[in-house]
Amino acid sequence: MDCVFCNLKKEEIILENDLAVAFFDNFPVSKGHVLIIPKRHSENYFNLTSEEMKAIFSLSQEVKAYLDNLYHPDGYNIGFNVLEAGGQSVMHTHMHVIPRYLGDIVHPRGGIRKILK
Ligand SMILES: [Zn+2]
Repeated sequence: MDCVFCNLKKEEIILENDLAVAFFDNFPVSKGHVLIIPKRHSENYFNLTSEEMKAIFSLSQEVKAYLDNLYHPDGYNIGFNVLEAGGQSVMHTHMHVIPRYLGDIVHPRGGIRKILK
């Protein structure tokens, strides 16, 4: 399969559990931007099994601890883009873990509520 996320290099992986792996985004929107994906290829969030959801959400807690220790962010945005209209560019389910830093934008209030602005 020519899916880039199905062909991650082992050295790219920073954390993993039985069903999910975490790695740094190649085009980070902030320092420490991490993606968490299911090991099994699935197109988007709504195709995940409940076990995969659990594995991804559980790994996000470990990623947070990892990033807190490494970069000391002041906040986070967590999310899934679903399909082209939702901004998804790689069609293998991925959770964005985006560390946020006080002052990184002028008015952060609202977070992902502002994605259509
Ligand atoms: Zn894939």
